[in-house]
Amino acid sequence: MPTPALPDAALPAPREDLAGMEPYGAPQVEAAHLLNVNENPVGPSPALVEDIAREVARATAGLNRYPDREFLDLRADLAAFLAEESGIPAPAPQEVWAANGSNEVMHQLLLAYGGPGRTALSFAPHYSMYPEYARDTLTSWRTAERGPAPDFTLSAQDVVTAIRRERLQIVLLTSPNNPTGTALDLDVVRAAAAELAADRGLLIVDEAYAEFRRDGVPSALTLLGQHPNLVVSRTMSKAFALAGARLGYMVADRRIVDTVRIVRLPYHLSAITQAVARAALRHRRELLSTVAMLRRERDALAEHLRQRGHDVAPSDANFVLFTVRRDRHEVWQSLLDQGVLVREVGPPGWLRVSIGTPEDNAAFRRALETADPEPTAATADDTTTATTPGREDA
Ligand SMILES: *Cc1c(COP(=O)(O)O)cnc(C)c1O
Repeated sequence: MPTPALPDAALPAPREDLAGMEPYGAPQVEAAHLLNVNENPVGPSPALVEDIAREVARATAGLNRYPDREFLDLRADLAAFLAEESGIPAPAPQEVWAANGSNEVMHQLLLAYGGPGRTALSFAPHYSMYPEYARDTLTSWRTAERGPAPDFTLSAQDVVTAIRRERLQIVLLTSPNNPTGTALDLDVVRAAAAELAADRGLLIVDEAYAEFRRDGVPSALTLLGQHPNLVVSRTMSKAFALAGARLGYMVADRRIVDTVRIVRLPYHLSAITQAVARAALRHRRELLSTVAMLRRERDALAEHLRQRGHDVAPSDANFVLFTVRRDRHEVWQSLLDQGVLVREVGPPGWLRVSIGTPEDNAAFRRALETADPEPTAATADDTTTATTPGREDA
């Protein structure tokens, strides 16, 4: 039976700062081509599905017990993976921590290092969840701007200037950045860590998309030994093709990990999640095998968009941020009407498209012809005539 509508005044009053707020999240709509939340478009092979299912069955037999609260085996597996992926010496398991997605990892970090009277900062355009971690933990939130479009570069000078403006306890840097795709030079990370150290502040470098970075682009993991206030956050949701499993992790000085352990809820990582993550890590080669294809597709799509006259932010991630000529919501809607779901995010006039399979990306290119047609010579510039040569093959 439907509940009769009661006046809001009959309900308990939530925290005042939550009044009128909506839960955050990208629209989850049906579409043939899902290019809106930067997932890996390729699902696990039948052999991998079977292997994970076997591990889950084993874990299921013990579900009457609480899971391993410290999950040092999984932390050791993650440490070994990082050593292999980034060429760093394997961290100790005690220097690695995991939770239900890197969102939970960063939320825990703000619980432990933010709070009333403390301030966190990031650089816009940034990932939309960061201010929500701050709101939830009653941490003050500030933003500074990244450099101008289409590069959205962040320099060491920008970061140092922003940090010097007021005392900060936490800075969130993202490399490659979402939604722009921009990777950070390590001198920016070094400068931020050093500047924050003066106030005993924490630097979180969110590397959710690190595995997609172009050759020669370093990971902040290589700086961990030098800066005890540096945390590098990673996830299995993107390159690792495991968004549904919810496994994110971080590496840091073990005293930072131990501090986070104080605020984590007991048994936050289920036995099922631990089993899935460990099985997936054993199959890392297969799960990461799509990365090379996705990087090629990304570079080709960025080039295609540039050829069509869009501004494109250089991307080290599995998505591309680009400008459109028409109203961006109309372009977004027209793409969706044609079965292609992208994300309306970033500065006004920009859209973000995740890199899908070659078929997804071809569908996006086709749909864009209708959604945001290339200007003809006549509409491109009213003072010239349609006889202007050379536009058709531009
Ligand atoms: C997708 C994403 C994450 C990862 O989220 P999970 O909770 O690990 O799924 C983290 N940071 C950024 C910037 C992202 O875009």
